[in-house]
Amino acid sequence: MADVTIKRFDDLESYNGEGRFRYAGRSLGVSAWGMNILMLPAQWSDYPDHDHTKDGQEEVYLVLRPRGGHADYHTFWHEHGHAHHFASMDPELSFEARWLGDNSVTEGFAMLFDHMTLDPRWLMRYPGLESGEARDLVFELGVNELFMLRRYAAKLAYEIRLHRGDLDRMGPEYAERLTEATLFRYPEGEYLLDVDPGFYSARYLRAWQLQALLASQLTERFDEDWFRNPRAGGYIQHLMSRGQADNGDQLAKRVGGGPLSFEPLRRSLEQMVS
Ligand SMILES: [Zn+2]
Repeated sequence: MADVTIKRFDDLESYNGEGRFRYAGRSLGVSAWGMNILMLPAQWSDYPDHDHTKDGQEEVYLVLRPRGGHADYHTFWHEHGHAHHFASMDPELSFEARWLGDNSVTEGFAMLFDHMTLDPRWLMRYPGLESGEARDLVFELGVNELFMLRRYAAKLAYEIRLHRGDLDRMGPEYAERLTEATLFRYPEGEYLLDVDPGFYSARYLRAWQLQALLASQLTERFDEDWFRNPRAGGYIQHLMSRGQADNGDQLAKRVGGGPLSFEPLRRSLEQMVS
């Protein structure tokens, strides 16, 4: 694995010896852009004032709460996908294409990256898992993925009913639909808490479809290890440059696989749990 450099956060060079601010890009030999890691306690408010008007740089902050384990990788790559998407937008795009549009698109890019951590090839190459460990983990993650997918499908169906129904009487329907879909018992009391505003669960479902389609198209164009191919990076950035000017279906057509459907996702899930 000569083309990979792995460093722990603690090994990264720090700005001032204090350890709170660390040069991530520089410590990995990347000079083109300054990716840094800031480890800040909760409620921290002493971020130093600084001014980039002279050097014309812009800053993008990705805020994460580490919990340990696979979830941190997943979260990092998900939020990185959003940051990468918004940072790659053509600044000449209209306000609507940059700030509004179909959030299935940004969630789709975020999920494209977080789903790398569900790929046994990625798990073996980067976190260094043995093939048996990667296979076992992918099976577990696949079961969780199925659970989440069924949960979101049931949530959307329930939320559509909720917004049409009698607000005071929806508890039993919530519990029944979610329990039946996931086989985990859901309490009636959460029927107003477990609701995503603006039917955002539909965005996630469409993003799920979109990421599976994007991953399969990337695999077709750049092979199974597209995630380490610089040409694939350029292609993804080209797609991202349109911000949210296209909706999920239009983007799916643009990459040559639309309209959106569960088919590519079903195929990848079957592989994970087979
Ligand atoms: Zn997201």
